[in-house]
Amino acid sequence: MHTNGHHTWFTLLAATLLGACSCPPQPSPDPATNLRDVTAEGWQPADLDTAMSLLAGRDSHAWEDHGRPLRVPRHPAEKYLADWVIVLDPGHGGKADVAGYKRGPTGVREAEMNLRVAKLLRRLLEDAGAEVLLTREGETSAAANDRLKDTHRRRAEIANNARRPNGGIGADLFISLHHNAAGKPTANYPSIWFHGEADWSEVALDAARAVGHRIGAELRNSGTGITSVLMSDQQMYRNGFAVLRHARVPAILLESSFFTHPQEEQRLRDGLHNLREAYAIYLGLVEYAYGGRPTQSTPTVERTDGRMAITTVLDDGLPGWWGSDRQRVLSSTMTVTCDGRRLAVTFDAASKTLTARGDGFSPTADEHVVSIHHANLYKHHNWPQRYRVKVAADGRIDVRPWHPPHAGEIRR
Ligand SMILES: [Zn+2]
Repeated sequence: MHTNGHHTWFTLLAATLLGACSCPPQPSPDPATNLRDVTAEGWQPADLDTAMSLLAGRDSHAWEDHGRPLRVPRHPAEKYLADWVIVLDPGHGGKADVAGYKRGPTGVREAEMNLRVAKLLRRLLEDAGAEVLLTREGETSAAANDRLKDTHRRRAEIANNARRPNGGIGADLFISLHHNAAGKPTANYPSIWFHGEADWSEVALDAARAVGHRIGAELRNSGTGITSVLMSDQQMYRNGFAVLRHARVPAILLESSFFTHPQEEQRLRDGLHNLREAYAIYLGLVEYAYGGRPTQSTPTVERTDGRMAITTVLDDGLPGWWGSDRQRVLSSTMTVTCDGRRLAVTFDAASKTLTARGDGFSPTADEHVVSIHHANLYKHHNWPQRYRVKVAADGRIDVRPWHPPHAGEIRR
């Protein structure tokens, strides 16, 4: 069943050529096109049997509808991306002269498709009010050049050091844009990569899930669903991908499709296909932003009766919508640890205050790592999740957000 408007056009054209009438266009007999415009003259609702008939005889190849119209409307919820700082990293660049380097079967270069997707995605995100930085504007930059040994660290540092509109430092999200390669030419599915253990990358996973599912649904490649869309970079390398490992902000790496798939390679040359992909990523990011990003006040750490007391006010990351007077942080997700030891917590829903007490634990002059964890009703996790707590000799306690350097790096 085709859902295009050719039938209606043909009818109109024929009527015009025959010098026919001023009669209104007839409703299309195609039930799917009939859904198009309820304000059109002669529109009739389809009945249930008509809808059921669309479900009869569906074949799995219909999924790969690469020729369907491309539409890129602004999502009304894109406003939740306003003022985000997003760093886009078009993968590779700088090795155009290296024979066979990151090229498809007919020589299409991954570096070029990555850059086109990045530029289109930047436009979509900027239209939504986000601030977007690219790690390269052309084939290479001072940071993004595969001939540089430390290019991955340099790319990540653009996100780590990004200046925020409010004066803070660090991007909201770092997204490295790639396309995949496999020995098997039929392979073609999206995968979104996070760093290390899932436990270290909860916020990245929130974004990855939304973006990954959207890429699958919008690019419609045959392998969608063949395996997990979420992958740890340690499935590839012991220490993961350097570009993710060096990031101190939530970071994901997209392998949206395979340039080694002969048809996909040709599609990836096409700016409109690149836009389809950029739009899918945009939709995923809108949906992620819509679900909010929980955070909390910088915790106060006190010594009370010789025990450690940690207090913080939770923020579910959501606007003051209808229902915002209800608890939107899930109690089961509230945990506080100190140096890996879980503390007993109490939550006061009225003041949104989470208090943790360390039985038998006294602050010393040492440095401690306190982790605070919670998730809202969209299962979106809080950021930051860790604080470094230093107790000075005079008893003053210094608390600041902390991201472990090379989190999860495996050392022998
Ligand atoms: Zn790549």
